[in-house]
Amino acid sequence: MKIRTRIALQFSLIVASILLGFCLIIYFTTAAYSREDFYERLKKKARTTARFLVQVKEIDQNLLKIIDRNTLTALYDEKVLVFDERNKLIYASVDDHIIHYQRSLLDEVREAKEVETWSDENQLVGLFYDEGGRKLVVLASAYDRVGRSKQINLRMTLIWCLMGGIGLTVGLGIFFAGQSLRPIGEINTQISTITARNLRQRLDEGDRKDEIDQLAVNFNAVLERLEQAFEQQRSFVSHASHELRTPLAALKSEIQLGLRRRLNPDEYGDILTNLLSDADRLIALTNSLLFLARTLENISQMPLEPVQMEEVILLARDELLSAQPRYRIEFDYENLPQSETATTVSGNEELLKRVLLNLMDNACKYSPDHTARVRIRTDEKSCSVSVSDEGIGMNPEDTERIFEPFYRTATAAGYDGFGIGLSICQRIIELHQGQITVKSRPNEGSQFTVQLAHL
Ligand code: ADP
Repeated sequence: MKIRTRIALQFSLIVASILLGFCLIIYFTTAAYSREDFYERLKKKARTTARFLVQVKEIDQNLLKIIDRNTLTALYDEKVLVFDERNKLIYASVDDHIIHYQRSLLDEVREAKEVETWSDENQLVGLFYDEGGRKLVVLASAYDRVGRSKQINLRMTLIWCLMGGIGLTVGLGIFFAGQSLRPIGEINTQISTITARNLRQRLDEGDRKDEIDQLAVNFNAVLERLEQAFEQQRSFVSHASHELRTPLAALKSEIQLGLRRRLNPDEYGDILTNLLSDADRLIALTNSLLFLARTLENISQMPLEPVQMEEVILLARDELLSAQPRYRIEFDYENLPQSETATTVSGNEELLKRVLLNLMDNACKYSPDHTARVRIRTDEKSCSVSVSDEGIGMNPEDTERIFEPFYRTATAAGYDGFGIGLSICQRIIELHQGQITVKSRPNEGSQFTVQLAHL
C-alpha cells in the first residue's frame, strides 16, 4: 500500500473514531436528559392529581378526569391511577385503565417512595403520597412523543454529519498526504537519474528547511563524498599506472640496447646492473601499492594493543640505520615521562613503526646533513612524536597536498621516491584515530608530528 493511502486511511480512521465517539456521547446524554425531564413532568402530574383528590373536597372524580384530559399540559397517552392502602384503585384518569404494571410495583413504591420505570413504550412513574391521613400510591404513565421525535431527528442529523465528516476527512487526508509526499516523489525521480557517470549531479535542496530538504542535503553530502572517492580512485589508478610505466619503459630500452648489437662483457654487466635497479624500483613500488591497498581493506580488523612509543622509535631507527648507515637520528624527550606507561598508546606496533620509519627516512633523505631529530612528548591525554630536519622544506601549498597519493614537490624531483609513503602514514594514523600534522618552510626544514591518544 502506498504511504500516501496509508497515511490518509490512518488519519481518517482516527478522526472517524473521534467523531463517532462525540456523536454517541451527544446522542445518549441528550436521550438521558430528555428522559429525566419527562419523568419530572410525570411526577408533577402524579402529585397534582393526588393533591386534588385529597385536598380539594369539592372536586369529584369525573370533574378531575375532565380536568386531567383537557389541561394544556396533558401528555400524549397520559394515564394516572391512584390506589389506596389496600391496593384498591380509587381513581383512573382514563376509562380503559390500561397501565401495564405488576402488583408488586405498588409495594415497591411504598417502600422507595418514588419509582421510575417503563410500561411498554411509555415511561411510568410511581409516587407514594402521604398527606392528611391518606396513604396513596399514584402511578402516572405517558408517551414522550416530542422527546422521541427530537431524538430521531438528532440521530439522523448526527448520522449525516458523521458520514459527511468521514468523507471530508478521507478526501482531505489523501490530498494533504499527497501534497506532503510530493517532494519525496521528486527526489526519487532525481535519484533515479544519478549513475556512476554523472556523480556531479545534485538533488534540489528546496527552501522549506523540513525533513525532506534535510534528506536531500544529506544525500548531496553522500554524493559529494562518493564523487571525491571516485575521483581519488581514478587519479590513484592513473598515477599508479604512470609510475609503473616509467621503470618498465626503462627496462625495455635497456633490453633493446642490449639486443641492438654485440656488446662486450663489461657493457652487458652495466646493462644488467641497470636492469636490476629498475626491477628493485618496480618491486618497491608494487610493495607500497599493495600495502596501501591492504591497510585500506583491513581498517575494521586491525587488532589494537598497548604499544610503547619509545620502543617503536628505537626499532624504526635501528631498521633505518642498518639500511642507510650514513643517516643520523637524534632521539630525545621533550618532557620526562611521569610514569612507565606515560608513552604507551593503543595501536599496532608494526604499522606505527612503518610511520616513524617513513618520517625519519624522509627527514634524512631531504636534508643535506641526512639528520633527523626525533622528540617525544607526553601529557595526560596523548603522546606526540615529532620528526624534524633542517632540509629542503616545502611551500604552504605543498604541505596541503603531500598526503595525497603520488604527490611529490617540485624540489623533491632529484630524490628517490614515489610519493606514496606519507599517504600510507596518514591512513595508518587515521586508523589509530590520531593526527598527523606538518610545519615546514622552504630551505629551512620540516617538522612532522604524530599525536596518539593513550590507552
Ligand atoms: P616520497 O618521499 O617517496 O616521495 P612521501 O609520500 O614520503 O613520498 O612524501 C611525499 C612528498 O612530500 C615528497 O616527495 C616530498 O616532496 C615531500 N616531503 C616529505 N617529507 C619531506 C621532508 N622531510 N622535507 C621536505 N619535503 C618532504
